[in-house]
Amino acid sequence: MRIIIMGPPGVGKGTEAELLVKHYQIPHISTGNIFRELYKDRTTVGKIAKEYISRGELVPDDITNEIVRHRLNHQDVKKGFLFDGYPRNIEQAKALDEMLAKQGTKLDAVINMTAPEELIIERISGRRVCETCGAVYHIHNKKPKQEGICDHDGTQLIQRNDDLEATVRRRLRIYKNQTAPVIGYYEKAGAIIHINGTQSIKEVDAQVMKALGETN
Ligand code: ADP
Ligand code: ADP
Repeated sequence: MRIIIMGPPGVGKGTEAELLVKHYQIPHISTGNIFRELYKDRTTVGKIAKEYISRGELVPDDITNEIVRHRLNHQDVKKGFLFDGYPRNIEQAKALDEMLAKQGTKLDAVINMTAPEELIIERISGRRVCETCGAVYHIHNKKPKQEGICDHDGTQLIQRNDDLEATVRRRLRIYKNQTAPVIGYYEKAGAIIHINGTQSIKEVDAQVMKALGETN
């Protein structure tokens, strides 16, 4: 299975992506997570990316596409992959098409999640993450067993610094201007599934599974 999951920041892409990668046993390729890892490892690329991320802007395409190109050379993507947060503009979508064409593969599905802006702001402002393992929680909708502590490794959960409201509003503007046109790009290619992201985590997953032709 080769899947892309798209949608505005905070709509629930990463949460649904986790369920899909478990189901299909494919790697979860989140460019946001890769940038955060590279920053945590104090790499030069990570430090450059961090500057853009903190401002709520997109990391430049040459850096982003190169990271994806590199990731697609790993053995584990032979069985498929799920891209989460990539491509984020038309240039990246074209670059990905070229990479896949070179490998002689193509996408099986593009999932586009939607939700109104107020709900997105509510989801992002309640998002808490574990910097150790990357797990994502929500203060009301997906609580950890113990408040403020990661279920997997006991790390204190934090709020991402780009999840503060002013930065979120900028990210939403950039989403509208640069990322939303990618939906039209894939619509033309005829392989897009629209999912109502306002539903519960369970309902979103059921709808995605059904759209992908999975019955159970
Ligand atoms: P969200 O889905 O909540 O926006 P991500 O983890 O996908 O969060 O992205 C966080 C930030 O990382 C983005 O705001 C952007 O700065 C950067 N980023 C992630 N993916 C890309 C990409 N494909 N192109 C450019 N920048 C990206
Ligand atoms: P994205 O990857 O699109 O930025 P996330 O998957 O990180 O979004 O979700 C954003 C926040 O909303 C997280 O705190 C997550 O726990 C919560 N969340 C995700 N999906 C749902 C949902 N269907 N209903 C309620 N809350 C959700």
